[in-house]
Amino acid sequence: MSQSLSHPALSAADPELAALVGAEEQLQADTLRLIPSENYVSAAVLEATGTVLQNKYSEGYAGRRYYEGQQNIDQVETLAVERAKAVFGVEHANVQPYSGSPANLAAYLAFAEPGDTVLGMALPMGGHLTHGWGVSATGTWFRGVQYGVRPDSALIDFDEVRDLARKERPKIIFCGGTAVPRTIDFAAFGEIAREVDAVLVADIAHIAGLIAGGAHPSPVPHADVISTTTHKTLRGPRGAMLMSRASHAKAVDKAVFPGLQGGPHNHTTAAIAVALREAAAPSFRDYAHAVVANAKALAEALLARGYDLVSGGTDNHLVLIDLTSKEVPGKVAAKALDRAGIVVNYNTVPFDPRKPFDPSGIRIGTPSLTSRGLGTDRMPLVAEWIDRSVQAAAKGDEDALTVIRGEVAELMAAYPAPGLPTA
Ligand SMILES: *Cc1c(COP(=O)(O)O)cnc(C)c1O
Repeated sequence: MSQSLSHPALSAADPELAALVGAEEQLQADTLRLIPSENYVSAAVLEATGTVLQNKYSEGYAGRRYYEGQQNIDQVETLAVERAKAVFGVEHANVQPYSGSPANLAAYLAFAEPGDTVLGMALPMGGHLTHGWGVSATGTWFRGVQYGVRPDSALIDFDEVRDLARKERPKIIFCGGTAVPRTIDFAAFGEIAREVDAVLVADIAHIAGLIAGGAHPSPVPHADVISTTTHKTLRGPRGAMLMSRASHAKAVDKAVFPGLQGGPHNHTTAAIAVALREAAAPSFRDYAHAVVANAKALAEALLARGYDLVSGGTDNHLVLIDLTSKEVPGKVAAKALDRAGIVVNYNTVPFDPRKPFDPSGIRIGTPSLTSRGLGTDRMPLVAEWIDRSVQAAAKGDEDALTVIRGEVAELMAAYPAPGLPTA
């Protein structure tokens, strides 16, 4: 069995858990993973997360810790910080946030008081929960005001953003999102933020890898603070970073520790450093551009098959399909695709008439398949599989889904995934 070969100690100590890990490895190897926030990390990143750095407590920052024994840890964190500054061209980087949501919370802590107004993109329009949406702490402890997209183009309505900013005078403006298939105009947001004296936080969680690889414009110098996860297109471990101008460094650092967190996860910091080294290599530029080329090719192939895409296509790694005209709810389609070995998530589309737990769309993306080396020549086949699965879902044709699942597994076997044990 592959799991006993790749994880001998785990298999001996806890066969039950080892079997689950082995099954997950098999699932990630056999399926076509289209969730745009997911990826495959390299074996090197994976190894870094499993090191003895796990064993250390290091509250504070390099050179000013509350614990002794930091001879190596300080250097690990400094490497990660310096690489982040170089890759993104920023003056300051904090690599300690545990994940994207706490990173955003730290930005609130640094630049707003409870009850203050913040302006962010509405969740059903493509924004993130932590941009002031009601069910999130950010929408209950702060006064979240939300902008959206234009009904005709599904593009951000900058007239609305400017009007809301002038009227509401937010302390913080968030830009970026989780279901935005188009380029974020950081310059336009920066201009509005400066006019109303708000702090602009560019949340680049989804597109950090594209920015690092030059396949999406950078928020530098328009944003005051840049928040990102490290595990999406950046292809690092689960974690996050806050980057800023030097003038905001103190506020950002103080908010992360001691404001919000205790000890940093040093094994994660190490893996972030490894991922940033990979992101600085010329091959990562090729990767980022290939992610976008694949998404555009996939969008074209879906349009040719009569699918409606939010905003009509994509500029980045993500495609949002509105299934209304296909008369298949997003959740039904997503579950059928899963049975066909194609992993997506159901998603609201802007102005969705259906409920968030049963919306009209599915969200797909190309970071993972690009990490496995699939190119634009394969995107018509991916679109065909999606189309056949959606049609099978409409007809309740389970046999068709089983056939597709076999075809998917066969193709994926020809594109071994980074980080996974080879059979
Ligand atoms: C994924 C994401 C986050 C949150 O990251 P977690 O690590 O899941 O907490 C925040 N903002 C945006 C835009 C995201 O896409």
